[in-house]
Amino acid sequence: MSQAAAVVRLLDGSRDRSEVLSEAARGGVPAEVAERVLTVLAAAGVLIDYPAQLLGSVPAELRRRLRPVLAAASLGSQDGDGGARLMARRSATTVAVSGAGPVADSVADLLTQSGLATRREASADGGKADLLVLVGHQSPSQTTELLRLARPHLAVSASEGIGVVGPLVLLGSTACLRCLDLARTARDPAWPLVLAQLSGRAADPPACDPILAAAVAAQAAAVVVAFADRAPLAQAAVNGTLELLAPGWQWRRRSWRPHPACCCGASAAA
Ligand SMILES: [Zn+2]
Repeated sequence: MSQAAAVVRLLDGSRDRSEVLSEAARGGVPAEVAERVLTVLAAAGVLIDYPAQLLGSVPAELRRRLRPVLAAASLGSQDGDGGARLMARRSATTVAVSGAGPVADSVADLLTQSGLATRREASADGGKADLLVLVGHQSPSQTTELLRLARPHLAVSASEGIGVVGPLVLLGSTACLRCLDLARTARDPAWPLVLAQLSGRAADPPACDPILAAAVAAQAAAVVVAFADRAPLAQAAVNGTLELLAPGWQWRRRSWRPHPACCCGASAAA
């Protein structure tokens, strides 16, 4: 065991695999013993093989800030790379958050802390972002503009005791915001009138409970992070909305289908 202990002592995160082997050999531990120790630890899932090259490419400050996130990601995914793969995906995912207020601020904050390349946008145009997060009510003209942009987007709103996260729209293959409006109109013919009244009218001050805002922002950020990680959670907001009603505080999921009358083409593709 003394040879094994000597190898384990070398595993402090400062050496890659070949450096561990050569350092062990210098200390008199045969290569086959060192290899065996690494294999046993890797098979038990306790060895984190963080690519040294990737680690070196991340600025020290960002690395320090992301350490808790990486540790959580590594535990969650059990991929044994210290969260390196997830971090690479997240830092390569650009997200534009549009809308004003505490929910938009909070979503952008949480995404930045989670390692995503996040920026705030005044409008829903989003430049070259991989995903747009649209906080607040979207008017019919904004919905039309989103169809034109053809970029993945997530709708988020929180006001007057109800928070809604979703749908996550992958245009042409999942239900879009217009699909939802058409479905609402089918159930309630007065819906377009309500929609027209909502457009361009912001309550002053907007009614929103701070706890509701925080819960909705956290749920929205979780969906975006899952989108970046390609994790199943993001699916919950695809063809669906996650809704939170205060003061019950129970999330519920509502399903939506692509609407056959919508010009987004998702219904034909389904
Ligand atoms: Zn549609």
